[in-house]
Amino acid sequence: MSQAQSQPKRPLKRLALFGLLVVLAMAGGQAIGQDEEAMPPLPEPRPADLAAPAAEDSESQEPGNQDAGSEEAEAESAPEDGDRIEGERERVYQVACPALISGQIEGEVLEPIAEGTCGISTPIRIGAVMIAGRRVELTGSPVISCAVGETLAQWAGEVDAFAHARTGARISALRTGPGYQCRLRNRASTGFVSEHGLGNAVDITALEMDDGSAISVLDDWERGSDADPARVLGFAHDAACGRFTTVLGPEANALHADHFHFDLGCHGQSCRAQICE
Ligand SMILES: [Zn+2]
Repeated sequence: MSQAQSQPKRPLKRLALFGLLVVLAMAGGQAIGQDEEAMPPLPEPRPADLAAPAAEDSESQEPGNQDAGSEEAEAESAPEDGDRIEGERERVYQVACPALISGQIEGEVLEPIAEGTCGISTPIRIGAVMIAGRRVELTGSPVISCAVGETLAQWAGEVDAFAHARTGARISALRTGPGYQCRLRNRASTGFVSEHGLGNAVDITALEMDDGSAISVLDDWERGSDADPARVLGFAHDAACGRFTTVLGPEANALHADHFHFDLGCHGQSCRAQICE
């Protein structure tokens, strides 16, 4: 097939393909949806001057700038305008928390925290998690991310079911640390920022049960023991390993003799590796 033959046919082929897509889309969106890999939905065409409308938007929010006549010229120079880029950086980006909206966790969204290398854009002070409609208080009202809060709620539900089946008692409260803390890993003086410094970690020291007892990591952790508290703690530790990316308990090191540390830090290139100790 020579260039001269194939070249003029291309527009026709494209037109035919487009027509086919339109027909398919009209005939059955569902059929296309079921095979998304083979035929992904077509994206909207990208506007030629994508930067310009964004620049105009930010302009319109600045009451001081009334010079509408030179909008176009300003939009073109926008990327080099240091003031405007700085203004963008000052904008506060926070995200909604579905678990908060659904009531799975109870808490309050705080202002973003930025302290050097520590910080979190959407910190949430979590007072309680819901387990099967019951409010289970977090005694330390930890400041953590939405994802950690939601994962903690799921974990607590799993542990509650096990504890109830094993002992007849249910979790009434979780004794926690403060969550966010700007410090280095293991409270060292050098090294990496702890996941606590990113609002990405929470510590659990004990489970308070509705029969008045408490199951504490310091007092009751004993791998291999058949005692109820030890079994509940062993289950709690291992269940966390299925949800968090880092789980550290008494077997990790002496620093964790009295609490479980859970976080959602990224391990490995794909953020899927887990540490369970
Ligand atoms: Zn910790």
